Amino acid sequence: MLDIIIIGAGPAGLTAGLYAVRAGMEVLVLEAQSYGGQVNLTPEVENYPAIQKISGWELAQNIYDQAVAQGVKLRFETVKSVEAKEDRVTVVTRKESRDARALIIANGAKRRTLGIPGEDKFAGRGVSYCATCDGAFFKDRTAVVIGGGNTALEDALYLSNLCKKVYLVHRRDAFRGEKRLGGAVLARENIEVCWSSVPVSIEGDKAVEQITLRRVTDDETYVIPTDAVFVAIGLAPDNALFSSCAELDPAGYLVAGEDCHTSHPRIFAAGDTRTKLLRQIITAASDGAVAAVQAANLVNEEKM
Ligand code: NAP
Repeated sequence: MLDIIIIGAGPAGLTAGLYAVRAGMEVLVLEAQSYGGQVNLTPEVENYPAIQKISGWELAQNIYDQAVAQGVKLRFETVKSVEAKEDRVTVVTRKESRDARALIIANGAKRRTLGIPGEDKFAGRGVSYCATCDGAFFKDRTAVVIGGGNTALEDALYLSNLCKKVYLVHRRDAFRGEKRLGGAVLARENIEVCWSSVPVSIEGDKAVEQITLRRVTDDETYVIPTDAVFVAIGLAPDNALFSSCAELDPAGYLVAGEDCHTSHPRIFAAGDTRTKLLRQIITAASDGAVAAVQAANLVNEEKM
């Protein structure tokens, strides 16, 4: 039996792994896709202490390299089910079933979708959820970014360096994201903000050709010809798999406080997946450390 299984290899999961191996635990990190999580999708990070500026991808790579160098083991396996018993937690992937004394869930959150006509049809053919991944396909062309948070602001700035023209569509008349980023967007000549507008549908033949918007102030619809639509409307939890083991809040986040304890004594939640005030890389990493120490305390008490 392992001491601790960690689900997710973003900043929370990898930091949990780092702290757990340093506490002498036998630990395994399971990751369904690629390590790094949402950080990989961030063009630039400027608010991680001690690092002036770094690409999200490079920061993710550094966190991974450090964890692996210190002995964290990672397997790329998708978790299919979790069963929490009194003396152990069983985690089943497509390949294997494993038992551990404690489980840290650090599976992050997934990008929200718009749910409008054309979004699914043109996914990968103009509709994207990652400007850093797909922006280069639209060099010298036109792109629309949807959202008013930090991600949308950063995506609009990133794309404005590549594209001829960028429209930023936001449903209100003020950004949610940081003032500094909002100011930079408004100062950029090739970004036009479509305030108080919501997307209605995305149209085209083989690829995206235009987006229809509705102005919420007068209910008028209007069309913007575009080659790409980048959706940056925030994150949603992905915790259905754990609902029978630990309590979720009405929005689907794992209920856990600053100590990262969920409603099950053997299960801890770290990072974006749990109920918390601020979802940032630094708070995810912080949760990873807290959850690992809490889980290690539980394991050590049982082994005594
Ligand atoms: P967010 O802060 O939740 O912003 C989502 C934006 O999308 C909001 O402006 C929201 O509008 C809009 N929106 C939501 N649903 C919509 C819909 N159905 N149709 C149209 N618009 C919709 O999400 P985020 O920008 O992805 O950021 C997530 C978290 O990561 C935040 O805590 C953010 O601060 C953090 N983050 C930080 C950095 C950084 O520090 N550099 C970078 C990226 C992300 P309303 O404003 O009207 O709600």
